[in-house]
Amino acid sequence: MDPEKRKPSGPSHPTESAVFLKELIDASPAIISLIDTEQWKVMYQNATGEKTLGTIVGKSCFENIPKMSANCPFCKAGEALKTGKMTSSEVPLPDGKWLLIQWSPVRTGETMLAVETIVDITTQKLKEEEYRGLKDSFEHLATIDPLTELLNRRGWFTLAERLCQRALQDKVALGVFIADLDNFKRVNDQYGHAVGDQTLQHIGKVMKSLFRPRDLLGRWGGEEFIMLLPSDDRDLLAIAAERVRKAVESSPFVSGDITLPLTVSLGGVSFTPAVGDRKELEMRIAQADQNMYLAKQQGRNRVVL
Ligand code: GH3
Ligand code: MG
Ligand code: MG
Repeated sequence: MDPEKRKPSGPSHPTESAVFLKELIDASPAIISLIDTEQWKVMYQNATGEKTLGTIVGKSCFENIPKMSANCPFCKAGEALKTGKMTSSEVPLPDGKWLLIQWSPVRTGETMLAVETIVDITTQKLKEEEYRGLKDSFEHLATIDPLTELLNRRGWFTLAERLCQRALQDKVALGVFIADLDNFKRVNDQYGHAVGDQTLQHIGKVMKSLFRPRDLLGRWGGEEFIMLLPSDDRDLLAIAAERVRKAVESSPFVSGDITLPLTVSLGGVSFTPAVGDRKELEMRIAQADQNMYLAKQQGRNRVVL
């Protein structure tokens, strides 16, 4: 076949080629400009740029950005020229829109120019934000108990494991105890589940007021709460547990003309992590739970360590 005939169809004459390229660049939905980076002036803009920003050829390049009145803090054109690689910035605008701006270096003889491409990415950004918000709220739901706003079992366990690892490294002791409300079923039976729920919220607040942020407090399930404290001293653990017992005893739940006296039984253990893993923690929690049952057997409203 004649090699001439195999050539791809398209412009061959130089002027035709320029027209073709201009049409191509004008058809782009992006704002495309050519920037003289010695004087930071716009040398060329495509049709989309002209339609969006008006004619800015010959003006300062910051006028490429809506509402920008001086040199742009996010500009990476210089970096593109220095490295010879494309650079980009995601830029939030005062009206809530987002732009993706990219710079590619072009060398024409001695002059260094940058091609600047601007695309509106507001829709993608809003989707990203929505997704992040959803992810955060899913994570929140997965780790926080909605009734008491304390950590739920899963959230508590994740953090407790990390504390155990740290205690293992630092060779310090920890104390874990479980607090179970006494005869709580009677509250539900006598006053209904809604009052039961309010009582649990009330106890959650009482507990929260007793601990420092570094102590790990959570709702273990039902009417049971769990705590993990750094404690080198078994006596300190006993003091902390006794503080909870006394606080619950002296904080009846009051609602309208109902006053519900409440008590709690606590079981705990102190230990210096030997492995610091989930299994070891589960084993210590089981021991604390056994002690809590002993406290129930011994008459409730007491602490067994
Ligand atoms: P004990 O002193 O032996 O612990 O007696 P108890 O009645 O507290 O224990 P039991 O295990 O028999 O009953 C616990 C009750 O806690 C039963 C259950 O309905 C109630 N409960 C668990 N979770 C919730 C909750 O989220 N809301 C309400 N209102 N009640 C709950
Ligand atoms: Mg229970
Ligand atoms: Mg109970």
